[in-house]
Amino acid sequence: PATLGVLGGGQLGRMFVHAAQRLGYFTAVLEPDTESPAGLVSHHHIQTDYDDPAGLAQLADLCQAITTEFENVPAQALQTLAQTRPVAPGAAVVGIAQNRIEEKAHFVACADLSGVTCAPYAVIETPAELQAVRDERPDLLPGILKTARLGYDGKGQVRVRNAADLATAWAELGSVACVLEKMLPLTAECSVLVARGWDGQVVSFAPQRNVHVDGILAVTHAYEGNMPPALATRARDAAVAIAQQLSYVGVLCVEFFMVEDGSEHGSLVVNEMAPRPHNSGHYTLDACDASQFDLQVHAMAGLPLPQPRQHSPAIMLNLLGDVWLDASGQRREPDWTAVLRLPGTHLHLYGKLHARAGRKMGHLTITGPDVASVKAVAQRAVALLGLPGYED
Ligand code: ATP
Ligand code: MG
Ligand code: MG
Repeated sequence: PATLGVLGGGQLGRMFVHAAQRLGYFTAVLEPDTESPAGLVSHHHIQTDYDDPAGLAQLADLCQAITTEFENVPAQALQTLAQTRPVAPGAAVVGIAQNRIEEKAHFVACADLSGVTCAPYAVIETPAELQAVRDERPDLLPGILKTARLGYDGKGQVRVRNAADLATAWAELGSVACVLEKMLPLTAECSVLVARGWDGQVVSFAPQRNVHVDGILAVTHAYEGNMPPALATRARDAAVAIAQQLSYVGVLCVEFFMVEDGSEHGSLVVNEMAPRPHNSGHYTLDACDASQFDLQVHAMAGLPLPQPRQHSPAIMLNLLGDVWLDASGQRREPDWTAVLRLPGTHLHLYGKLHARAGRKMGHLTITGPDVASVKAVAQRAVALLGLPGYED
């Protein structure tokens, strides 16, 4: 059988493998970790570093097409693979999404087409730029200083209250390339998943509303009425435009802020994008007739992209390692029996052996016949598991 490859062995890779296997594909995962969620379920596990030339050659040899599940995979590795195999998304777009400076430049460049722009910001790469921003951009404060590369789940970010704090914040982040972003008065956050094929065909999911706790996604609300319809339409159109403008192939997630601006529904600001399926799209596994991982498989393998249809309202609750730790930090298994007794609960556990606070261990999606019953069950699951971030 044909084999599909993925760089990275995390839970996103695992769910990709499951989707590929359903279509009869074999899979190959390149991942150095011995006990990775994707490596454990794949036909082939190439256990080596992401940039090991021999490992990459082996992956290319085995596979018909290759994708990535890991945002910070070396773009060079994708480039190497692309010499002999279709790779989606490509090295160039992954490179843009890996660097906030390039990412924001792209958002600005396609603002006319997408109809949205990003938060006001300035680039800080040198001490001279630091000083210039401190002296000339008081409009960006209070703000958030974010490293250009390698940040995720709110890591690599420091809040900056005033000009005096800026130098300390930059030093705290290691004086690496950063962007200073103005802190915006968010009313809510949402994200949009888009899939685009080699032939330019594009499909998308309706926007989901996301709640973060301590910079990590906690809850996703995916149902009609989860946000003002006017904003939902604008977010979806903007995400499609951003993907088109990149000639993107594969699944792309674009995150947006909803910001208070005195108008009836507020305005939409684009935050960042992930060149892969996204945590906020996990509800599509249980609430849609094609999931974000199905679309990833179709896109990279050159199969037609079905326009997905959501058949049930859904709420997704992220399960972080905290749920497994008791007050003294000892590991204990949560009461899954009680959770699974609730109607419409779909439990996904990623097979991670060690629980750490903040580590993504699994998620629980709740589906039901209507929004009210989904919310009622979510509330009970939240209470049973002691989860943060849930409100109606
Ligand atoms: P991810 O894990 O989604 O990749 P990340 O570490 O790349 O996250 P961001 O998405 O940039 O970080 O920021 C994390 C969260 O911090 C946002 O979801 C939002 O809640 C808050 N935040 C970030 N930038 C701003 C801003 N300019 N104004 C207000 N809140 C912000
Ligand atoms: Mg990010
Ligand atoms: Mg984010």
